[in-house]
Amino acid sequence: MNPQLKKNIDEVRKQINEAALKSGRKPEDITLIAVTKTVDVDTIRDGIELGLEHLGENRVQEFDEKYNQIGDACKWHLIGHLQTNKVKSVVGRTELIHSVDSIRLAMEIDRQSKRLNVISKILIEINIAMEETKFGILPNHVKEFVKSLEDCENIMINGFMCVAPFVEKSEQNRKYFRKMCEINVDNKNMFQHNTSMLNLSMGMSNDFAVAIEEGATMVRIGTSLFGSR
Ligand SMILES: *Cc1c(COP(=O)(O)O)cnc(C)c1O
Repeated sequence: MNPQLKKNIDEVRKQINEAALKSGRKPEDITLIAVTKTVDVDTIRDGIELGLEHLGENRVQEFDEKYNQIGDACKWHLIGHLQTNKVKSVVGRTELIHSVDSIRLAMEIDRQSKRLNVISKILIEINIAMEETKFGILPNHVKEFVKSLEDCENIMINGFMCVAPFVEKSEQNRKYFRKMCEINVDNKNMFQHNTSMLNLSMGMSNDFAVAIEEGATMVRIGTSLFGSR
C-alpha cells in the first residue's frame, strides 16, 4: 500500500474537522466523498481499507467498470454530467446522483426508479457562477425547476450541488458557496412527498474548507487524496 495515501486521508480529514469546528458544526455532519476518477481499482480498495466510505465517479462507463469489481463495499456517488440514455446503469446502484441538470434527466431517473421500485436520491446541480462552460440550472430558475418535479414520486430531491469556478484563492468562491446555502434554504422542503433538502454538495480539493464554513455537507475531493491526475 502506498503510505502517502494514508497521510493524505488523515490530512484531509483533519482539515475537514477544523473547518467544521470553526463554523460551529460537527465534523461527522460532513461527508467526505473521495473522487476516484482515473484512480485504479487496487488503490481504491486500499482507500476503502483506510476508511473511505463514499466514492464519487464522474463518468458512467468508469463507474460501471469499477462497480462491477468493487460493488457495495462502499457507497457510490455519480458526480459528473449524466446523459439520459445512461440513467439505467446508475439507478439502484448509487447512493446519490449529484448532477441532475435537466427536467428530462430527472424524469428519466424517476421512470427507471419506478421500474425498479426504488426511490433515487438526487441533487440538483446549479451553475452558481453562471459560467458558459458549466452544466447546471441557473440560480434564478431553481424554484421553477423544483416545482416542475412535483409529480415525480420515485425521486427524493435531497439538496443542491455545484462545481465552483477554478480560482487562485479559495476565498474568491465564498460568495458562491454562500449563495448555494441561500438557495437551499429558499427551497427547503417545497413538497412534503419528494423534497428533503438536507445536502449541499460543494467544495473540492482547492476550496473545501471555505465550502464547509459556508454550509457544505458533502465535499468531493480527488487530488488532495490521490494526487494530481
Ligand atoms: C474531479 C471532480 C472533483 C474533484 O476535484 P479535485 O480538484 O481533484 O478535488 C469534484 N467534483 C467533480 C464534479 C469532479 O469532476
